[in-house]
Amino acid sequence: MTDKSTTGQSSANRLGLDYVAEAMRFPKRPYRIIDVHSHIVGGEAAKVYRRVAETYGVGLTYSMTPREGIDAVRAVLGDLVRFIVVPDFAKLASLGPRLTKTLGEDYARMIEELHGEGVRIVKFWSAPRRRDLEEKAGAKDALLLNAPHILESMSTAHQLGMVIMVHIGDPDTWFATKYADAGRYGTKLEQYEAFEDVLERFDTPFVAAHMGGWPEDLTFLSGMLERHDNLHLDTSAAKWMVRELSKHSRDDLLAFFERWRGRIMFGSDIVTSDKHLSAATTDDERTSLASGDGEAFDLYASRYWSLRTLFETDYAGESPIADPDLAMVDPDRFGEMDAPMLAGKGLPEDVLKTFMHDAADGLLGRLHG
Ligand SMILES: [Zn+2]
Repeated sequence: MTDKSTTGQSSANRLGLDYVAEAMRFPKRPYRIIDVHSHIVGGEAAKVYRRVAETYGVGLTYSMTPREGIDAVRAVLGDLVRFIVVPDFAKLASLGPRLTKTLGEDYARMIEELHGEGVRIVKFWSAPRRRDLEEKAGAKDALLLNAPHILESMSTAHQLGMVIMVHIGDPDTWFATKYADAGRYGTKLEQYEAFEDVLERFDTPFVAAHMGGWPEDLTFLSGMLERHDNLHLDTSAAKWMVRELSKHSRDDLLAFFERWRGRIMFGSDIVTSDKHLSAATTDDERTSLASGDGEAFDLYASRYWSLRTLFETDYAGESPIADPDLAMVDPDRFGEMDAPMLAGKGLPEDVLKTFMHDAADGLLGRLHG
């Protein structure tokens, strides 16, 4: 069972698209698309992901694969994948007060070791819901970006000449709902204080995931990019990007992409898991987003279809991906399977080439010699 409605729709394909046939409608380009933000986990799921990437013209993927899963993913994807150092988030919540050491000196050691194995990007996650994790662990500010132990591991990444990726902001829809208690989570703007501090401290390149966490506000993002030459953005998180970037006019989004050319990189935030490949037998699996090869293919492909449709075409219609944030904000109007409008921006070819290939190739390619 997956999250299907009574009409048999799947949340990743509510329009019943044939994602293989759909991929053929995009122009074939003389460069490979680089996806700078994904979470490829599981050897079997990596095989499905590989077919999706090939179908959608993605020739290189940067993945936040937990360390012990790297070999299995590399065995399937080979040169098509490069890795991003990431703590094992599944384990973080159960660490207790050791959380601080794990993200400090232990993380610095892991960064050094994985750098020795060719990894060149390090992820630091500091979303507002870090407060819940910190409280559970009894480790206040363990994930604050400018806490002393985080600065220590960041400094290791800096000395090794690595690129730092951060997750800082979450959707406005979440600040209106689950983060409504600003006393606990801080306001959205307050999330950026620690981030601007580390952008000043280290002259290393930073990539702020999910359009810097604020796709809703291009003016704010322009201010950040203006203040910090070392800041770059990725466009990962398909549901969020489709919902919010669709709301900007084509002129505004195009002006933003032209102004910040070379500093915005294509990313998907595709999350793969071997759990997506089998029928559910436990409650945990019943909440899985897919339960078989075909559904997993659709789940992953839906992200590339939506993002490419958003940036490359003049499509105007509903998104094929259900977006539960709509019901979270307005439960009277929307249900779990509803989706926002996807308004394609049809960006020009030269802007797309920089965005989907050259920017990442320029920033990250040289790090791999
Ligand atoms: Zn991610």
